[in-house]
Amino acid sequence: MTSAAGVVVVGGGQAGFSVVSTLRSAGYDGPVTVLADEHHLPYQRPPLSKKAHTDPEGIHVDLVPESFYRERDIDLRLGDGVTALDTAARTVVTGSGTRVPYEHLVLATGARNRRLPVPGASLDGVHALRSLDDALAIGRALTTARDVVVIGGGFIGLELAQVAVARGARVTVVELADRLLSRAVSPQLQEHLRERHESSGVRILTGTAVKAIDGAGRVERVVTDRGVLAADLVVYGIGAAPRDELARDAGLVVDDGVIVDEQLRSVSDPRISAVGDCARHPHPHADGPVRLESVQNATDQGALVGRRIAGSPAPYRSLPWFWSDQGAVKLQIAGLRASTDEVLVAEGDAPERLAAYAFRDDRLVAVETLNWPAEHLAARRLLERPVPVRAADLAGSTLGALARARRTAGVRA
Ligand code: NAP
Repeated sequence: MTSAAGVVVVGGGQAGFSVVSTLRSAGYDGPVTVLADEHHLPYQRPPLSKKAHTDPEGIHVDLVPESFYRERDIDLRLGDGVTALDTAARTVVTGSGTRVPYEHLVLATGARNRRLPVPGASLDGVHALRSLDDALAIGRALTTARDVVVIGGGFIGLELAQVAVARGARVTVVELADRLLSRAVSPQLQEHLRERHESSGVRILTGTAVKAIDGAGRVERVVTDRGVLAADLVVYGIGAAPRDELARDAGLVVDDGVIVDEQLRSVSDPRISAVGDCARHPHPHADGPVRLESVQNATDQGALVGRRIAGSPAPYRSLPWFWSDQGAVKLQIAGLRASTDEVLVAEGDAPERLAAYAFRDDRLVAVETLNWPAEHLAARRLLERPVPVRAADLAGSTLGALARARRTAGVRA
């Protein structure tokens, strides 16, 4: 029996969508409500920093059409985000003052971009990129921009830099750290990635701090500690922080994300779950609780909670994986690397292919690849199994060959 209050999902992103679509496919027949603050139907974010800008007015990123929700009796309420949780009354309150009761509450509130903390950051022509509206604005600006300065050499910055250079702009990436993607990618792979960006025409300044953005009404230049850069468009991507304040204000345990158990239930209240970018959770591939910002994590966590509420509980164990399309480069990551892991780099069977294998105590824990999807898929298959991959297994070989050899030999574990 399901209660009349049913499931309320806060957030209409990839994670929230995954919860509600799984609830219905898994047979849950109680009320399902999604409360989202944006006015758009739930959409995919990955295209926003990749190819969407080639046709700014023609972005079609809806996850599913509106009829999907109607046909499944999912009450999708757009443009009325949640402003407070009343956990004692098991009710959420929206911006319009509506109170919505729940039997199960799922927080899928995602993350928000860090704001650029320098003077001039709110001038016209300076953009962050997270929402569809941000992407549309950047797409329009790119039709005329000549000098683009990208602040932050992370995923948004590097993907967007390639979009802008393909549109014929002069592009400079300014990164505060002494290398690109300093937390996400091993130093070894980062070097290769940097070379590929530079050879495509992107100028990269690492170890450079932005001091101010300057212009009469709209951006004209970016002032750094190593000189002044002309700019008619600035896009910044300097990281994200979890949207966990609803949980914190309601007294749930929060520490850079809502703290959840292995079934993704708040450790403070088992009727509340958190999924995706806003959740910090135990993971068999990590030493301590982790918070992962990826489509895979949002999708798999949403599905896990949907199945649990529908009656099939399980711990979250999905192997983390990730991709980033940066012009001609496809970067893919499987597993979780720590900065202390030993990294071996190997060239692939074609000049543009490369892999970095991370080992901890002589056990493969993560693999980063450039333009080598087959090796990435083999990594995912092997890392999901308990039989370890040792450095010696890879001598003169690839994970693809190793996976085939193990399959032939009938190694199932
Ligand atoms: P990100 O990938 O964390 O990269 C931010 C970069 O900006 C880091 O290299 C950071 O250096 C640097 N930085 C921080 N403060 C800076 C400053 N004041 N000046 C210059 N550089 C600075 O974050 P993001 O690119 O902003 O992306 C935001 C979110 O969107 C993330 O969750 C990301 O995973 C997601 N996203 C994912 C994809 C994808 O999956 N392909 C694509 C786009 C966005 P430190 O590391 O040293 O702080």
